Amino acid sequence: MEQKNTNTDPLATSVKFIKGVGEHRARLLARLGIHSAQDVLEFFPRNYLSRLLNPTLQNLQVGDLVSLTAEISWIDVRSSSKGKKILHLGVNDSQMKLVCVWFSYPASYEKIFQPGRRIWLSGTLSEFNSQLQMNHPSFELIDDDKDVEGDFWKTRSILPIYPLTEGISQAQIRNIVLNTFEKFLPYVHESLPDDILEKYQFKGRRDALQMMHFGQHLDRIDQCRTRFVYEEFFYSQIMWARHRVHHNQNQHGILFENKKLLTRALKARLSFQLTKAQVRVIKEIFDDMCSAQQMSRLVQGDVGSGKTIVTLFAMLLAVENGFQAALMAPTEILAEQHYQNISILLEGLEIPIILLKGGSYKGKAAQKEVIRTQSGQIIIGTHALIQKDVVFARLGFVAVDEQHRFGVEQRASLARHSDHPDLLYLSATPIPRSLAMTVYGDLQVSQIDEMPPQRKAVITLIRNERKLDTVFNDVHKELSLGRQAYFVCPLVEESEKLALLDAQRLHEYLSTKVFKEYKVDLMHGRMTAAIKDEIMRRFKSGEINILVSTTVIEVGVDVANASVMVIEHAERFGLAQLHQLRGRVGRGADQAYCFLIEHQPLSAMARERLATMARTNDGFLVAEKDLELRGPGELFGLEQAGMPQFHFANLIRDQHILAKARTDAFAIIKDDPFLREGKHELVRNIYFANYIKKEELILY
Ligand code: ADP
Ligand code: MG
Repeated sequence: MEQKNTNTDPLATSVKFIKGVGEHRARLLARLGIHSAQDVLEFFPRNYLSRLLNPTLQNLQVGDLVSLTAEISWIDVRSSSKGKKILHLGVNDSQMKLVCVWFSYPASYEKIFQPGRRIWLSGTLSEFNSQLQMNHPSFELIDDDKDVEGDFWKTRSILPIYPLTEGISQAQIRNIVLNTFEKFLPYVHESLPDDILEKYQFKGRRDALQMMHFGQHLDRIDQCRTRFVYEEFFYSQIMWARHRVHHNQNQHGILFENKKLLTRALKARLSFQLTKAQVRVIKEIFDDMCSAQQMSRLVQGDVGSGKTIVTLFAMLLAVENGFQAALMAPTEILAEQHYQNISILLEGLEIPIILLKGGSYKGKAAQKEVIRTQSGQIIIGTHALIQKDVVFARLGFVAVDEQHRFGVEQRASLARHSDHPDLLYLSATPIPRSLAMTVYGDLQVSQIDEMPPQRKAVITLIRNERKLDTVFNDVHKELSLGRQAYFVCPLVEESEKLALLDAQRLHEYLSTKVFKEYKVDLMHGRMTAAIKDEIMRRFKSGEINILVSTTVIEVGVDVANASVMVIEHAERFGLAQLHQLRGRVGRGADQAYCFLIEHQPLSAMARERLATMARTNDGFLVAEKDLELRGPGELFGLEQAGMPQFHFANLIRDQHILAKARTDAFAIIKDDPFLREGKHELVRNIYFANYIKKEELILY
């Protein structure tokens, strides 16, 4: 099949050869992900500023994120009681007034803010003494007279605002973009077929690119963005459609037989009844395993919904058929925990269980020898399981716990195993079904949407930071009953360094002032995995009473005796993350508590998030609310869950586009699975040039 030769594609020209760039700036641009001319063309503005005054301040509420153009009416510098200078800037947009405040700022601000000048502002609205206010907004002074950016930009009434990096100014980026378009636009080729452009009234790629950077109407710019989102979804869905074709042809899976030997024995020895949801999911898994296709199934279930036991039934089905069953966990401590729990459950059944650890240790060679030569056993471990030197005698089934912690490649290497084992992926992140199907492509999805009965819901309480003392009292009460507590600090501005400082400070304060009589320990992301594991182990064994940490505490670790979680700056966390954190407590028989400490000012969204947490313990409700609340650019929680990265598209905001792209792509592949027909030439060329590498990763 014909492939585009990227070496001769002018759009692949290194950015350093573009007028106005050079070696030094090329290095700065690389930080923004820009390496080639094409990258510049596709480097879309994060916002647009209008030179026109826009009376947008009416109808706005505190907590809203707004961008507007206004006129500076006054500037005022005051000194705080501590001698620090505070800058106030009064602006108005002809209908409303707003005060901008900087608590620290470069000295140059006092000069550049001149009454009468127009300024574009972007930030979150707050209120102080019944006056609308914006603290530390992003801004750009609008130059009406000085010809600093050349003629072109001076005449525009809508200007693009690009993401920046230190050392490159807005004006410089704008000119680099302009120069790139002048030289390279003719080399841009259409990437969507005519009938699709027509169907959705999309602009051609060239026009659409120009519109994104130089458009003069915000609504039309937004329509153009849709085109790029569609394009991205479309080709990723072509990939999944091809995957489905391939998968449906693949009849190499193992045909297990449900002998009900070990599985019945396990059921008999459970001290509890399986929930209806667990029974249903076990059946779904067994149906897959007893068919000739290789299973590829995702089990979603909230923290504590009982995914391990479901997995164990599947493992026993493989074992009773004379195969090996493996369970892969993201960390040693989780692997160990599974090993202990499963060993207890299977005691007396005489099934060999191997815990294969990372690194080298005494007895490892012997373990590997057993794995290579014998079958019918259970093997538990970390990614040590998929190292080349581990050879399986007869691998029939693999479960991947906390699957989002593993890369696509790691999962694919399992799938491609020559034994074609059935694969089960476990995930605690409740992603709505429609989304999961597309995000994980063509996996089958099972949901454990029911909690074991008699589990006490965690009581969630929102407390203001000024009431921290009362929270400490409550924690004291729990500790005095012999329980343990977690304190969690957020990532500040996504900088682990600052979060670390916060966690360190809190740790010091708690250990030297508040909880002197207890063992308080600290854990953070800069520690090695081995040290983190060790701290978790000590917390689990009860040696540590209070664990202070950044958000790195191990998802999935069961410390039944931990009954309190205190989350500092809870307003800074996403809903999904709060829910995951809260899942660390309430795993034992005791009533558990989660304190959400809020710091003012609180955006409307943050307030809603905390209220949702206080209102429900149901992960699926939390996930739905999360979807509803999330605006563009707030994908943080989902990125964490291992969502694939799209350049233009936002999975939450753009779901409706995804649905269309999926339908169109699947229709094409159904009609022409190998894209051989002439009418699909364009799709074929683009697809093979850009996606075939990714496809090789997922095709199994
Ligand atoms: P997760 O889905 O978070 O991995 P686990 O599988 O670790 O959850 O289960 C959490 C706890 O609930 C375990 O102690 C397990 O033994 C228990 N459990 C699982 N299923 C049930 C059930 N149907 N009834 C009561 N307890 C259950
Ligand atoms: Mg689990």
